[in-house]
Amino acid sequence: MVSVVSPVLDIEEIRSQFPVLHQKVNGQPLIYFDNAATNQKPKRVIDALTSYYSGYNANIHRGIHTLAEKATRAYEDTREAMRSFINARSVEEIIFTRGVTESINLVAASYGRTFLKAGDEVIISGLEHHSNIVPWQMVCEEKQANLKVIPITESGEIDIEAFQKLLSGNTKIVAVNHASNSLGTINPIASIISMAHQVGAVVLVDGAQAAAHLEIDVQALDADFYCISSHKMFGPTGTGILFGKKELLEQMPPYMGGGEMIKDVTFAKTTYNNLPYKFEAGTPNIADVVALREAVNFIKELGKENIATHEDGLLKHAQDGLSSLAKVKLIGTSEQKVSVQSFVVDGIHHFDIGQMLDARGIAVRTGHHCTQPLMESFGLEGTVRASFSVYNTREEIEVMVEGISKIIWKLGR
Ligand code: PMP
Repeated sequence: MVSVVSPVLDIEEIRSQFPVLHQKVNGQPLIYFDNAATNQKPKRVIDALTSYYSGYNANIHRGIHTLAEKATRAYEDTREAMRSFINARSVEEIIFTRGVTESINLVAASYGRTFLKAGDEVIISGLEHHSNIVPWQMVCEEKQANLKVIPITESGEIDIEAFQKLLSGNTKIVAVNHASNSLGTINPIASIISMAHQVGAVVLVDGAQAAAHLEIDVQALDADFYCISSHKMFGPTGTGILFGKKELLEQMPPYMGGGEMIKDVTFAKTTYNNLPYKFEAGTPNIADVVALREAVNFIKELGKENIATHEDGLLKHAQDGLSSLAKVKLIGTSEQKVSVQSFVVDGIHHFDIGQMLDARGIAVRTGHHCTQPLMESFGLEGTVRASFSVYNTREEIEVMVEGISKIIWKLGR
């Protein structure tokens, strides 16, 4: 039996909702600490997928028959659920994409190509995932704009003074994450947005690591664009959203052409559909969008504050346990963090730690975590990363810490 950490949440009951957790891996009970890569899905999300396919699979928006209407309603219900989840003003501001990567590419290609000119500047931070670096490099190269990078501090925080110095009349776009996938740092995005707005830049927030952990209110933040992946918030892979302020989305050309995003097509000219459909060409990922609704409900019912309290306790427990091992160095020690802890072990390659933990049934991430420039700034090729979710327990962390101590004893003498 695992004990309950949260005074509010019944972690045992929560665990019982996740079928995948109840298995042995390499002969040991699975301990899943790779939640920053993707978190596990509660049964209600899995059931929503099968009930769509076995009950009302149909293409949306165009059909007038009963199944098409039911599928359309379910798809649009998720749009409303996501609107409310981030407190957007209107469902016209919620565009379904394949996830954060596609959302950022959409903005870089549509907004970036339209509004960037030679000599303009795009600012990102040293904490970014490759998907919040490469699309900006591509558009900057095409438009002869310049990409600037905010340096980070030793503890893994954005250097706000350096950011202030980078801002100028040339700054047109600022793109930063809400929370770092490699280090867990929660960035002060409200301040970043307000500073960027003072020079007239628009701000895109990569919310991949925030959606399952932090309250998101795009109106209070005054975010221009906010990106979310379903699969990092207990929903299916292959979908997510781009939030964009209506007035910006209206000025932007479509990202892809095809069915659904049009009002009228002739060989001479096409007129585009209203928001949000202008950005949703083709048959979308209906089943996964429908099931995402259940993920939203799951988070809402638990309460983000309760989730965060439990995860903060787990993070602290992991930091204490790992710090007690002489050869372990924590990477990413900001005060404000989501439940992600990177570390390295002196004299032992991170892959070896990952493999040996896997032999004990413990899933952690090893490598550069799609943040090669960040790793380089720490002089590292990669780290071991343990990331915790609401269904994890203190006992699991103790098993991991003990496992690492045994690996050090075996390999590190
Ligand atoms: N940004 C961050 C901070 C991430 O953690 C990830 C996923 N690891 C992404 C972007 C990309 O998300 P996706 O692969 O779901 O598009």
